[in-house]
Amino acid sequence: MKRFIEENNQKVYDVIIIGGGITGASVAYEAASRGFSVALLEKNDFSAATSAATSKLIHGGLRYLANFEFGLVRESLKERRILENIAPNLVYPIPFIIPLYNTGARSKWIIEPGMIIYDLLSYDKGFTWDDSKKIPWHKYISRKKVQELESVVKPDGMTGAILYSDCTSIIPERLTLAFIKSAVKLGAEVANYAKVVDFLRSNGTVEGVVVQDLLLDQTSNVRGKLIINCGGPWADLILDVATGKQNSQNIRRSEGIHLITRPLVNHHCVGMLSPSGRHFNIIPWRGHSLIGTTDREYIGDPDAYEITREKVEEFLVEVNGALNEKDQIAYSDVLFTYGGLRPLVEDQTKEVYKSSRKYEIYDNEKDGLKGLITVEGGKYTTSRSLAENVVRMAVKKFGMGSYKSITAKKYLAGSEIKSINSFIGSAIFENEDFSEITIDYLARVYGTEFTQVLKIARNQPEYAAPINADGEILAQVVFAIRNEMARTLTDILLRRTGIGTLGHPGEEVLQKVTEIAAKELDWDKTRMDQEWKTANKALNVPQ
Ligand SMILES: Cc1cc2nc3c(=O)[nH]c(=O)nc-3n(C[C@H](O)[C@H](O)[C@H](O)COP(=O)(O)OP(=O)(O)OC[C@H]3O[C@@H](n4cnc5c(N)ncnc54)[C@H](O)[C@@H]3O)c2cc1C
Repeated sequence: MKRFIEENNQKVYDVIIIGGGITGASVAYEAASRGFSVALLEKNDFSAATSAATSKLIHGGLRYLANFEFGLVRESLKERRILENIAPNLVYPIPFIIPLYNTGARSKWIIEPGMIIYDLLSYDKGFTWDDSKKIPWHKYISRKKVQELESVVKPDGMTGAILYSDCTSIIPERLTLAFIKSAVKLGAEVANYAKVVDFLRSNGTVEGVVVQDLLLDQTSNVRGKLIINCGGPWADLILDVATGKQNSQNIRRSEGIHLITRPLVNHHCVGMLSPSGRHFNIIPWRGHSLIGTTDREYIGDPDAYEITREKVEEFLVEVNGALNEKDQIAYSDVLFTYGGLRPLVEDQTKEVYKSSRKYEIYDNEKDGLKGLITVEGGKYTTSRSLAENVVRMAVKKFGMGSYKSITAKKYLAGSEIKSINSFIGSAIFENEDFSEITIDYLARVYGTEFTQVLKIARNQPEYAAPINADGEILAQVVFAIRNEMARTLTDILLRRTGIGTLGHPGEEVLQKVTEIAAKELDWDKTRMDQEWKTANKALNVPQ
């Protein structure tokens, strides 16, 4: 992948996309697949913001049934199946346990009918391309069975549980990247660290954007017929730039944080209820537990958002209130934290937790900005179908481009795998010079591209040794820089690989990664020190 803004081209693109989260990535792929020429601009790294802050669930969203959002849940369940199909190495079914109590929102009489509706709305869950991705219908399990399966659930008042399945995306940052790579394969041009700082306008029509290349510190114009604002929690600020006014449209933002800890659950995602009635999940992930999420209104500049010790401590009080004595988590047990801001489309709901996760697509022609479309809200899970709807609007507007979407029917780039189990089996068998753990991990995370990582390791054996329990290897660092537009240490550690997402990997590993990056990217000592400092801040739990 090449950062297209480094080359001064005079093209006029059909579509310019602002934002390289999952929404922008999906829109880029959808538009490119319909025959549009596409440019995508991201001011940070791809998937560095909300799209990296998820609970890693690809799900219908059982709790949205409580708001009677049947349309949203059905759309999400359909997209869940599509993502299982088109990204088989990245999206997997995961069993959930929802403990039941005698009274309240967790009583069997409320959850059971909800589960029947959930199952009915996912009536097509058996029609997956790969048999291993089929999702079973829900069932009831006894109190004793819950204790056997996941002892983290407090027995007091618990009457049993519902066992059902949803999906997890093992590395959402790379799922976003897979959409971007799929777009690039079809001709889309993309750039990270490319911030849209102004719009080119003529007689009420938006004709392009002014882009600041944050790496080369230079500004250029990118021209296009249609601009799509996929700025997530920044979408309103981008609109301010387009209109030249302040607060042209305010988005409500809600903050969500996650904690990584030692394993508290075995194989199930457990839906916990805190003493104050807050719902949170404990999700098994890479031999650890992922606990999340909070959901609290965030007021302020999205660029200034950060997780503080106070916020983590507050969340820990809620979490510990729901855990057994033996499972209590101290602050020092928290290995890593991450968080992000949800843009919420409705501003009526008092509690952001109850606010809808539906998305909205606005044609800004109504505001005197012909040629600009803004997308707001949504879930990671529904991004592909959101993109279908946005591009349908573009096709209608232009009277060009293919009307038919193909993105639900084709594997994403690197995911061309018919049976994930046979693929992993063959990968292990054919690459005996690496440990099974390494091959299993790389084949899932890189799909069919894992052989390119192995090639680097075979050429440079010093990059072939496993550096963590997942079997990750330093050849991934080289691959990230040469093939995947990684330009900073955090791009490598947090988004192209999983080296940093279970917490600080240790000084020795960080040193090696920094040295490889410095060599590949030609960093001097000052740049190395800067990168080291930024990476340490991102990897350490706030103190
Ligand atoms: C805590 C939390 C947990 C969640 N869990 C789940 C889950 O488990 N499952 C699920 O389906 N959904 C989940 N979601 C929702 C999901 O994360 C979002 O719907 C999705 O990531 C939104 O993607 P996006 O691309 O619209 O936004 P983002 O990922 O935020 O992307 C917007 C991008 O625009 C860029 N940008 C902004 N301004 C400019 C500019 N001027 N120039 C260029 N680029 C710019 C930003 O840098 C950013 O990368 C969760 C959300 C949160 C916050």
